[in-house]
Amino acid sequence: MRFVRFQIKDQAPRQGWILEGKVGEVDGDFFTEYRRLKAEIPLDEVRLLAPVLPGKIICVGRNYADHAKELGNEVSKVPLIFLKPPSSVINPGDSVILPPQSQQVEHEAELVVVIGKRGRNITAESAREHIFGYTIGNDITARDLQKTDGQWTRAKGFDTFCPFGPWIDTDFDIADALITCRVSGQPRQMASTRDMVFSVGTLVAYISSVMTLEPGDIIFTGTPAGVGPLTDGDEVIVEIEGLGILKNPVRK
Ligand code: ZN
Repeated sequence: MRFVRFQIKDQAPRQGWILEGKVGEVDGDFFTEYRRLKAEIPLDEVRLLAPVLPGKIICVGRNYADHAKELGNEVSKVPLIFLKPPSSVINPGDSVILPPQSQQVEHEAELVVVIGKRGRNITAESAREHIFGYTIGNDITARDLQKTDGQWTRAKGFDTFCPFGPWIDTDFDIADALITCRVSGQPRQMASTRDMVFSVGTLVAYISSVMTLEPGDIIFTGTPAGVGPLTDGDEVIVEIEGLGILKNPVRK
């Protein structure tokens, strides 16, 4: 099933679900107790929002060998994790704003895991019980600042640097999904999720050995090779085959 957050005109955001191009409201909270109301609002009459308001945004660096290599890095022995602030989240279709502090802002197409059930020290084998579903993300990065700062809070943390959505698919099969990124029509990234160094189960186990995972937390699982610059006026599209398309314009 596909769950969304949506807005009609300037009404308050609501949780919903999608069936055959129509949106229905979700009564309650889709992480806990809910009832689905009839899907009868056409998709083009609603504005889809980032599908959750995450408490934590945990990201994994260098989880595809080809991408580690293109930036001159080794693949880590254990997952390399970092955080983005919730204030960096934008909705599908919202603009990524290029900050004046950076001359090199880049896209990173990624599969995103949405946590649905609280847990600490989750095993890789039981990770699926804690995962609500999957969505599409773009881990926007100021590459020049990432290099000069050493640690990545500033480079990854600007407002608008975390587009994700447009929905959470609870049944999506992540075993061999094609991830692509196009910038203003030009292909940039293409890889399969099977090329990940650390599997989603391993990542959930590793991260939850450090911090409690809560419903609504999201995990960016790393980007494949082909990252590159974004400039004013671009349109960046991340697609995961069978899951959907995340599209965002880029502005100064
Ligand atoms: Zn990333």
